[in-house]
Amino acid sequence: TTLSLATVLAEAARRYPDKVAVVDDYARVTYRELWEQARAYAAGLRELGVRPGDTVAVQIPNVLDFPRVYYGALAAGATLVPVHLLLTPEEIAYVLRDSGTDLLVAHSSQLANATAAAHAAGTRLATVGPLPAGVPDAPPRLEEAASAVPPLRTYVTREAEDVAVVFYTSGTTGQSKGALLTHLNLVLNATVSVFDTSECHPDDVILGCLPLFHSFGQVCMNGTFRLGATMVLLARFTGEAAIDVMVREKVTSFYGVPTMYVALLEAAAKAETLPRLRLAGSGGASLPVAVLERFAETFDAPIYEGYGLSETSPTATTNQAAFGTRAGSVGHPIWGVEAEIARPEIEERIEFLPAGELGEIVIRGHNVFAGYLNRPEETAAALVDGWFRTGDLGTKDADGFLTIVDRKKDMIIRGGFNVYPREVEEVLARHPAVVQVAVIGVPDAVLGEEICAVVVADPGGVTQEDLTAWARERLGKHKYPRQVRFAESLPLGPSHKVLKRELRRTFADPAQ
Ligand code: ATP
Repeated sequence: TTLSLATVLAEAARRYPDKVAVVDDYARVTYRELWEQARAYAAGLRELGVRPGDTVAVQIPNVLDFPRVYYGALAAGATLVPVHLLLTPEEIAYVLRDSGTDLLVAHSSQLANATAAAHAAGTRLATVGPLPAGVPDAPPRLEEAASAVPPLRTYVTREAEDVAVVFYTSGTTGQSKGALLTHLNLVLNATVSVFDTSECHPDDVILGCLPLFHSFGQVCMNGTFRLGATMVLLARFTGEAAIDVMVREKVTSFYGVPTMYVALLEAAAKAETLPRLRLAGSGGASLPVAVLERFAETFDAPIYEGYGLSETSPTATTNQAAFGTRAGSVGHPIWGVEAEIARPEIEERIEFLPAGELGEIVIRGHNVFAGYLNRPEETAAALVDGWFRTGDLGTKDADGFLTIVDRKKDMIIRGGFNVYPREVEEVLARHPAVVQVAVIGVPDAVLGEEICAVVVADPGGVTQEDLTAWARERLGKHKYPRQVRFAESLPLGPSHKVLKRELRRTFADPAQ
């Protein structure tokens, strides 16, 4: 069966040619224009030697050139490798080599790192976006290659099971791996995410502040196009910038990771005007219930929390109107997807646990990836008995609501007792002076690990003793944090998630 993710934009251009598809700081384009530009870039990529089935890596911030090049490469029949913006040249070179990339298209703002990486990996490089005059040895420009030839008339179609996008995991454990997502995975996930789970509407204006190189950002973009709605791109996220652009462009829907919600609430406290939001979605990390409640009070809009991984296209479950919503839960699996709780210790096969019991979340359905590139062992460990083992611990209640308890690898074992950081974070997030909190395990000579809370708090508002006492009143004796450290901010990864591995490194030494 032939199918391409390119269809998503091609069909939007056919159905809603004159609707505004994307707005960034510099331009505003309709679906007709965006599809024409993508087909022009597809022809340009061909000029640069890209053939159907080749691999094209893209390193572009959240500006219009991202959807142009992404859909241009898809239209040319290429497989895409989105490259995180914050990687070092060595890390980029690893991705280029591991994926067998034929051409890297880098935005001009990324040129220094991209050039070094392409050189190290022996990969061809092209650039897109405004290039300052007089750059010596500048690589070929995609705009120029495209202007030399007419746009492709239509797109190269693929097999539904062909790989459309390779997502590189951030490599929390060991080497970063390329997760293979097919055209079928991504077309269905974008479709089901907007039509079957959320209350999205074609007249919505969606803020595109999640990085587009990440799977969560991409499902927002592809879902917007699937719907024929409008996406307003924000290249550099801050709470203030998000509020400004949402007011200016009359944004109706916000999708973000929890740290973005925290920043948004901070900025909202100082803002003169607030956007009139209708809908919000959170995923990527656990959303403290306190943040969900503050958001609902401030913006008078619900947050639908969902759960997913790059390996699941990414949406796997979400709170959805059909089942009712529940704060603190990630809701139900999306249409066509199953999520179950399995015994975590048994890794060679799947053994389901009864409702209410804690275990590893396993997923089956059209959203599950095709495996890790060049890694048969990791693939075999992740795809077992037709299920995908997520590495996340959770529970499912009798009504089918799923709750994420924590990542297996973030669990703290203190004196033989399992402690789930998320539970401790929820309690501390409820303290009125706490802006943001992350709980980690730090080495302890006696207990193996000790519980440490790293807190961003209102200045002058609270002491370590206050917070320890607050937690002790509300948590079992083995669970409250014995260490509380204050920080100006928490370290964030390229997708704005809190980097716990970095916190562990910083706070491992008690003398700190
Ligand atoms: P890595 O690449 O190291 O596996 P990552 O964070 O880059 O980590 P992603 O695919 O971006 O990988 O994120 C998937 C993970 O995010 C899930 O395994 C889960 O731990 C976490 N996650 C996603 N949604 C939620 C949620 N609603 N609540 C709690 N955790 C969530």
